[in-house]
Amino acid sequence: MKNLSQLDDELAYDKHHIWHPYTAIPNPVPVYPVVAAKGVYLTLANGKQLIDGMASWWSVIHGYNHPYLNQAIHAQVDKMAHIMFGGLTHAPAIKLARLLVEITPIELEKVFFSDSGSVAVEVAIKMAIQYWQAVGKVEKQKLLTIRRGYHGDTFGAMAVCDPVNGMHNLFSHLLPQHFFADEPQSRTDAEWNETDIASFKAILTQHHNEIAAVILEPLLQGAGGMRVYCPTYLRRVRQLCDKYEILLILDEIATGFGRTGSLFAFEQANIVPDILCLGKALTGGYMSLAATLTTQKISEIISSNPPGVFMHGPTFMANPLACSVATASIQLLLDTPWQQRVMQIETQLKKFLLPIISLPQVADIRILGAVGVIELKEVINMAKIQAEFVKREVWVRPFKNLVYIMPPYIIKEAELMQVINAMIEIVSDKNLWQ
Ligand SMILES: *Cc1c(COP(=O)(O)O)cnc(C)c1O
Repeated sequence: MKNLSQLDDELAYDKHHIWHPYTAIPNPVPVYPVVAAKGVYLTLANGKQLIDGMASWWSVIHGYNHPYLNQAIHAQVDKMAHIMFGGLTHAPAIKLARLLVEITPIELEKVFFSDSGSVAVEVAIKMAIQYWQAVGKVEKQKLLTIRRGYHGDTFGAMAVCDPVNGMHNLFSHLLPQHFFADEPQSRTDAEWNETDIASFKAILTQHHNEIAAVILEPLLQGAGGMRVYCPTYLRRVRQLCDKYEILLILDEIATGFGRTGSLFAFEQANIVPDILCLGKALTGGYMSLAATLTTQKISEIISSNPPGVFMHGPTFMANPLACSVATASIQLLLDTPWQQRVMQIETQLKKFLLPIISLPQVADIRILGAVGVIELKEVINMAKIQAEFVKREVWVRPFKNLVYIMPPYIIKEAELMQVINAMIEIVSDKNLWQ
């Protein structure tokens, strides 16, 4: 363990020199130094162990420091850590592409690897635009999405994030102006209300000539508000996209690899996208890697028309370490009873979280697969609530008025109980979070 003055010195440096996600410098909110992580536990520098309810933002589905995933990286790093992907190729990329094509619907058979979810979304948008240019319908350049979405922090992705919640105000003069339909109100498990699709339908009817693609997070909207919606909405969207010849991009960066109870959330709606974005849990949380998958038709039309190539190519495209660990993570997932585990988590979340809807400060409870969300009526004090969770040896990172978890699938019943109890205890006492 480090001595205290050395640790204080490091934290002071961090506070004054390093940006954390969405923070100021100097950072007024404390950050907790982590020295190790294993299974569902994060070990802090002071020796305290926290049960992780966040899976490091959806990604660490098998838990930290997993021997099988470690082995995959070790084996690969001794062969080669990285080579450029322009003009060269390697087995880890080929193996991973094969596996992704195998576990996704038969229509999705072409794979573009990139470094992060936001870039996977940029790539998807470029594919859609390039497709319509190639077809000769150059007027199709806009996107249609729903409010309360989140698709990443880069400019193309930002432009399809929720226009109010998102960063539209700050950057609106630079962002392409797309179409936003009202977000559906029908919940995953509730009855479908046909009026939910009205706003989407109206925009499509009027503007389909300008629209290249629809982009959505299927069933679960993540960072834009942690909302859930009915699979029938997706079926209606697919039907309307087919009717008006619009491409459907599904962003499964948060939902992919089992989180909502099916391997991919769109399976619950029995639809297939034209373009699919994957990221986050792709490598089991080991490395940054993302993929954009598409169909034979789209790849062929892009490739057989000027400029005859798809216009994107990141430096670290298909990094061999990331590809190796991604393949290992998917194999591990498929070899374990993940569906049963996700269902157990869902059952436990429903049993213990749903009752606290009776608290006056709670606006809503939403549970889907291994995701549990408490929406409060008021915004939380981040530094305060964070300290309360750490005090209870739990890692939960709320934002705005949302206290939510998406733990590693390997979390045990007693461990999840500790996380749930901490959430309930803290939410119940307004003094702990206001
Ligand atoms: C996190 C996320 C992204 C962005 O991924 P990054 O790896 O952070 O760039 C895009 N879409 C969804 C749905 C996400 O949850």
